[in-house]
Amino acid sequence: MNKIGILTCLHSNAVCARVGCLSAFQNRTDFFQDYPEDTYLTAFMTCNGCKNANPTEPAEDKGILEKIDKLVNEKINIIHVGVCRLSDGKHECPRMTQICEMLEERGIKVIRGTHKE
Ligand code: SF4
Repeated sequence: MNKIGILTCLHSNAVCARVGCLSAFQNRTDFFQDYPEDTYLTAFMTCNGCKNANPTEPAEDKGILEKIDKLVNEKINIIHVGVCRLSDGKHECPRMTQICEMLEERGIKVIRGTHKE
């Protein structure tokens, strides 16, 4: 059984209902096309917000650290990162990059992409 999760931009919550990510997973399309039936989407997490709203870097952020601990404890071994990681539509937000590195350091594979970009 595969257990996977999705990471998105906190700021995108204002306009995004995660419909594209969830549909792609349910229909096994785009970045989820190779997953077998017995794959469970068991986590959805966001970053800790932009620096101007939250000066604490992800590596020091208790909430982010707790979320990553939870992923590890739940044996979630792959996290997909939404297109909202591209803060200007082209370049990855540095906070997203930091969180991806933190995930990888804990043995979680990071795949950049959910639905078509
Ligand atoms: S830090 Fe980056 S990914 Fe997080 S809310 Fe801000 S723009 Fe979005």
